[in-house]
Amino acid sequence: MSTTYLGHIFHVAGSPTVADAREHLVSLPDGALVVSDAGTIEWIGAARDLPPTFAGASVVDNRGGYIVPGFVDAHMHFPQTYSTDSYGGGQLLEWLDNCIFPAESRLADPAFAERIARDFTRRRVAVGTTAAMVFGSAFPHAQDALFRSTREAGLRVVSGRGIQTVGPESASALLTGEAEALALVRDEIDRWHAVDTGDATTARIQVAIVPRFSLSVTRETLRALGELYDEVRGSGVYFHSHLSENDSIIGGEIAAVKAVYETTSYLDTYDGRFMPGSTEGGSSLLGRRSIFAHGVHCTDDELARLAETGSSIAHCPTSQQFLGSGTMPWKRTAGSGVTVALGSDVGAGDEWLISRVMNDAFKVHISEPLEASVSLHPAELLFLGTLAGARALDMEERFGNLDVGKDADFLLIDPERWEPLSMLLEGRVRADDERVDADRELFALLMGLREPAIAGVYVQGTRVVAPE
Ligand SMILES: [Zn+2]
Repeated sequence: MSTTYLGHIFHVAGSPTVADAREHLVSLPDGALVVSDAGTIEWIGAARDLPPTFAGASVVDNRGGYIVPGFVDAHMHFPQTYSTDSYGGGQLLEWLDNCIFPAESRLADPAFAERIARDFTRRRVAVGTTAAMVFGSAFPHAQDALFRSTREAGLRVVSGRGIQTVGPESASALLTGEAEALALVRDEIDRWHAVDTGDATTARIQVAIVPRFSLSVTRETLRALGELYDEVRGSGVYFHSHLSENDSIIGGEIAAVKAVYETTSYLDTYDGRFMPGSTEGGSSLLGRRSIFAHGVHCTDDELARLAETGSSIAHCPTSQQFLGSGTMPWKRTAGSGVTVALGSDVGAGDEWLISRVMNDAFKVHISEPLEASVSLHPAELLFLGTLAGARALDMEERFGNLDVGKDADFLLIDPERWEPLSMLLEGRVRADDERVDADRELFALLMGLREPAIAGVYVQGTRVVAPE
């Protein structure tokens, strides 16, 4: 028997770009969402128009509250679950050296790895992140714990072990030799990619090839990963890494990458052009299933190449503020045609809840100078944290909005569980125009939402349960 969920539904319907998101915003104040036993969306609309065929469906009444698509986090670090708000005494490279490499080394202990995997999954359930690209641990037993915990909870995940073949002393526990790095990635793909259904087009558990960033690997590693990716692309394996995050002139990430590789651009190192002068040395790691975190300081040529290859950017404004990485130029980046989705970047990002990342996106982009300033529309914010994430994960046909036929990945929000939110929604000034009022209501919902108000998290129609 189907189940009907009642409440105020907001979603971005169809398959728009971010530029068209506001025209695709659907607001159904007395909405009904009918979910089949198989977990797909059978019908969506105003409750008064519910077809008689669904009259016998059981009803979950969330009236007075909201129904929105599950949040998608396009970039988060599982081994950094306990590392949000870590003081590193500097920006990206200092923070990695002083805080993150030591923190991630603790996962060498299998019992600790189990605990952090459980807590990571609990956090994801609490904030309604139904799908995520998860930057993994160097340790295979920790990755096993992550995949097991995620699968038991019923969430979606793409993840891969963090590959490092070079690094400072503080990262020594995370490093492997070149051959071992390759063997471990192959093994992870063999054991976990689409393990739940045996088919990458339906699986909730999938694997990515994840070098931490170009500075953590060598030309030899990148060449070998390119060969491996050529082999496994066809089976839906992903690629994930960091790109152009920190542009400090002295000792910054981008300057260091160009100095080490002698390439003209950072992106070239992932694009097979990692030899001096950006000449070709191997296969490209770009493509429809490649997500690059940050891209704060990309050149126009880099953005064009990302767009041309169907690669995506995980935009992480919360993290970029925390590490002083700067602001990704919104208009230039979105205008390039590259898919931009939101990432918490936990733990450099200190917010797990994707709507808090939307909040930071709104603030940083309205604060861009002069004509670069943009006031992101609430529909664009919702798009970035839901449908754009599904698109970046190349799973848009399965989830990301509440269109009929998709898997029912959604959240029930009850403002009564968080007084500041209910006060905001009830006390706000109403607009006479219905559409303008819906935009304002969605904005208040997204900006005021906090974790306690998330009352239910569903993936494929089944309620997700946090591990004990
Ligand atoms: Zn990151």
